[in-house]
Amino acid sequence: MNKGRNPKLDVLALGAHPDDMELTCGGTLAQCVRRGYRVGILDLTRGEMGTRGTPELRAREAAAAAKALGLHHRENLGLPDAHLEPRLDWKLAVAARLRALRPRLLILPYWQGRHPDHVNACRLGQQAAYLAGLEKLDLPGAPHRPFKILYALLFDVPRGVQPAFIVDISADYARRARAIACYRSQFAGPRLQRGVHIPLTGLEERMAVLCGYYGQLIGARYGEPFATRETMQVDDILKLRVRSI
Ligand SMILES: [Zn+2]
Repeated sequence: MNKGRNPKLDVLALGAHPDDMELTCGGTLAQCVRRGYRVGILDLTRGEMGTRGTPELRAREAAAAAKALGLHHRENLGLPDAHLEPRLDWKLAVAARLRALRPRLLILPYWQGRHPDHVNACRLGQQAAYLAGLEKLDLPGAPHRPFKILYALLFDVPRGVQPAFIVDISADYARRARAIACYRSQFAGPRLQRGVHIPLTGLEERMAVLCGYYGQLIGARYGEPFATRETMQVDDILKLRVRSI
């Protein structure tokens, strides 16, 4: 999976916990791989505060999921789960990895959400992307900033947030589902833990409903929504997709 310590990537998805980016943009990542782009995931924490699974088991699951998506690279920064915050030393640690991996496109969790780690992963990623481009910053590697930052919107976002666009992942949904199914400790048995029942099939159904909802907004079977902070540009208005009436 890690083909070289520092492979140059086209796309890097940065999440707080292993499985975050599969759940929010796994279909889009699989699609980028299918199109020949070099794609990686940077997990900030090992998810050690999760109710289920050990960090070792979750690392094995993350590696299997990366393989299922066909990723060129995956690594874990080992920051403390449930305690992410935009600390300067952690921003610099992320900035150093951005300089090494040099992605053109960075995908982050959306900037608002229920889980503080997701929000702070977004802040860390965004601020690190800026810092990584500062020439005088005392960090190894040549300065680099991703050209584009997208924010994955599929879940854990406030109600009513409108996507800037939706990617049609109909052809990549099966691969996305296979990657998510690798996280057995999170979504398969035990059937009851602390009174909470989260069977894998329940998750699959929920994901199919969510991806199906966003898909139908663009006339596709399955879609993954994204936000941007900047306005999107259109090059040819006659090639605009999604029928109006
Ligand atoms: Zn998470």
